[in-house]
Amino acid sequence: MTARPVLPTRREVVARAHATGLRVAGVLPYHYPRPLLRAHGFHPVELWGPPGVSRDEGSRHFQAYTCDIVVRATSFLLQGGLDTVDALLIPHTCDALQGMGSVLGDFVRPTPPVLTLYLPRGRRPVDGEFLAAELHRLAESLAGISGKVPDDDAWEEAFAAEGAADRALASLFARRAGLAVTDRDFYAVVRSREFLAAEDFTAVAGSLPAGDPPGGLPLMLSGIVAEPLDLFEHLAAMGARVVADDLASGWRRVYPLEDGGDPYERLAARLLGGPPDPTRGDPIAARAQELLTRLRATGARGLVIYDPKFCEPELFDIPRLRAHLGAAGYPLLHLEVELGGGLSQQTLTRLEAFMETLQ
Ligand code: SF4
Repeated sequence: MTARPVLPTRREVVARAHATGLRVAGVLPYHYPRPLLRAHGFHPVELWGPPGVSRDEGSRHFQAYTCDIVVRATSFLLQGGLDTVDALLIPHTCDALQGMGSVLGDFVRPTPPVLTLYLPRGRRPVDGEFLAAELHRLAESLAGISGKVPDDDAWEEAFAAEGAADRALASLFARRAGLAVTDRDFYAVVRSREFLAAEDFTAVAGSLPAGDPPGGLPLMLSGIVAEPLDLFEHLAAMGARVVADDLASGWRRVYPLEDGGDPYERLAARLLGGPPDPTRGDPIAARAQELLTRLRATGARGLVIYDPKFCEPELFDIPRLRAHLGAAGYPLLHLEVELGGGLSQQTLTRLEAFMETLQ
């Protein structure tokens, strides 16, 4: 295998963005309009927890069964971890994030202004119109902070740069079987889309060497976020190889590219055009069919759904997904984890036992 890709930290990326005159938006998971932020002079840096931050401070503001992403991100904010960002964007991915938007915006009122984005739970034309109106509302808030109202050139520049990064992400997945990198390094690069500038991500994604990846028993991973990245090293040590994913932090953000037209309609069509997704209210049967198609195409023997504890949209789909996939001969393991920094022995034992059933 080749040397591990060298990536900057989120902190370094924030400093670099500020040094080039950009504002920085901290963004909660996981669908949001990157070209819109860019056209308004913002660089997005995503927060998936962060892992390892204590739940204590954040948990005072939420019910005990609120997921780690919401609680730890709130702790991080209250500890001053977001003092360097210029705005906090909270998409309405789920009820937990909607609650976070309300608690922060209405009660905590932190220093960085809290912006929200309501995502529709459907893909009908009316959902596209609703989302385009929401994007107009978000654009006004961003312009109110940066003072920047994009002209046609700024829109085109933003769509071109983010479109190239989206193509680079899609290409990574398309080339996965021909890249000489470990799963850990592959997903470190996939996840660098969460914080790198679009141009930097495009360059890093394009630099992965062609060749044979390490072998192993083919597995598909679903869920929200494969955190910590050590998960992939443990899977490799158990003889597994991740050949496909349906992760919120991965494949679910391979969006179609929309050319030309009104920028807001274009953004809405792009955001609504991704794969079936439990947070969009897609029918479970449609999601199961998509998973089956990809399991068969990649030769994966089973599906591991890896979620932060208390993730309601994911939990809702599990029983029906298990039934659909089980009927087609694909076993499913659902793991709920805490984003506390490491993997528990219980998680590793359940993974090992699942792997044995796939031999
Ligand atoms: S982990 Fe689940 S419940 Fe938590 S923010 Fe993500 S989608 Fe929402």
